[in-house]
Amino acid sequence: DEVFAAVAADAAERLVAHWRALAAAELPVVPSGPPGTTLKALPEQAPEKGEDLAEILDDTWRTIVPQLVHWQHPGFLGWFPTNNSPASVLAELVTAGLGVQGMMWSSSPGATELEQRVCDWLARALALPQRFQHASGQGGGVIQDSASSAVLVAVVAALNRASVGRWRAHGTEGRYRVYCTAQTNSSVPKAVRIAGAGEAVQVPLLPGTHEMDPAALAARMDADRSAGLIPAAVVATVGTTTTCATDPVPEIGAVCQERGVWLHVDAAYAGSAALCPEFRDGNAGLGHADSYAVNAHKWMRTGIPCDVLWVADHTALTDAVGLTASYLRNPASESRTVVDFKDWQVPLGRPMRALKLWYVMRAHGLEGLREAIRHDVSLAVLLARLIEAEGGFEVVVHRLGLVVFRRDTDARTRDLVERLTRDPVVLCTPATVDGRPVLRAALGSPYTDEAAVHRIWSTIRSHAAAQD
Ligand code: PLP
Repeated sequence: DEVFAAVAADAAERLVAHWRALAAAELPVVPSGPPGTTLKALPEQAPEKGEDLAEILDDTWRTIVPQLVHWQHPGFLGWFPTNNSPASVLAELVTAGLGVQGMMWSSSPGATELEQRVCDWLARALALPQRFQHASGQGGGVIQDSASSAVLVAVVAALNRASVGRWRAHGTEGRYRVYCTAQTNSSVPKAVRIAGAGEAVQVPLLPGTHEMDPAALAARMDADRSAGLIPAAVVATVGTTTTCATDPVPEIGAVCQERGVWLHVDAAYAGSAALCPEFRDGNAGLGHADSYAVNAHKWMRTGIPCDVLWVADHTALTDAVGLTASYLRNPASESRTVVDFKDWQVPLGRPMRALKLWYVMRAHGLEGLREAIRHDVSLAVLLARLIEAEGGFEVVVHRLGLVVFRRDTDARTRDLVERLTRDPVVLCTPATVDGRPVLRAALGSPYTDEAAVHRIWSTIRSHAAAQD
């Protein structure tokens, strides 16, 4: 135990030094080793005899850390952020040390009730409808590992509801349809496939936008119904991955309500912005949403994994995925006065993830979390301005912390993508918008500041200058 305390203290010091080195941009954002570098450095066989924790920690920094992409690096602008904070890291250490498993209230009452409380805290902080709170009696939030898992259980609950429970016994029988758009995150069609509902239906976009067309949705659903199919769920997005577009949720909600169809809202990235009243428009019209998910691990200073899924009626979820074997029976569950989160998710076992959300919300306060969002949005504004002021560049779209841009020709954009792939200072990810290549820069690393944005921009410019 003394060894643990000493090595844990050393690990904490190394992490602090690592964060400082990141903040000072002393480390490259991407590693330079070719594929196989880490495999080569690792023995093929596991050790027969136990090794020193101190040595294993040393090896971590010698062998693993140099081959990581540093997501907390100030020049990391890839995909969407997956950010972190000391409060979250500390909570993860404590969680691991306590080593509890909160599958049911009776397997860890404190973990379950803490999760109920922090999910309600967050629902209020994001100004979500009251019925999503545990306090409402009907709805509630649950921490999932990812937005992918959240949409999977939402789709399954929708299929079960649309089939009036028949789905549990007979599956989807090729009859149920789930709707999204071509801009929806890939996790959604994947969830629909896993749920057994085949290919998700891609609803056309409103002309000139990347948003779902509610009239086209209604027409498609009605045509499907006339053909003997059953519309089960719609997945709308607040903040799409490619361009941070937001589907017209109020109109989509009305279409779903008229037809009794489940509406899931995927706000994996942009949902966190709703902490700030000025960035809450995307959440307008959640009145008819049945479920809503946000990744606290993307933009809320909480380490991965931590997605929060809220449902308006938790029985829809528990009817679909609840299952209690004899070895799980207990008086508390049978009294039906407690929450058993195993019935709100795919896995049976679950770690106490609520602790990190609790630490983060307390250590930063809602004000601190709002400031972080505003800071990142202001950095995106700065980057967008720098890009716009430069000849030969174009900002395709700029929303919240995301700036999507390209060069004047597609060939130059593709070449810039190539050059940036090898750059140690900046990581942007490529995408395609309306058939043309673009670069996405998502601001959200806790160490990115104005100076970093200027450094990032001068790096991008110098690569562009080398092209001509
Ligand atoms: N939805 C959106 C809009 C996303 O941007 C992402 C990931 O970036 C996801 C869902 C998938 O999230 P996860 O990795 O938590 O499954």
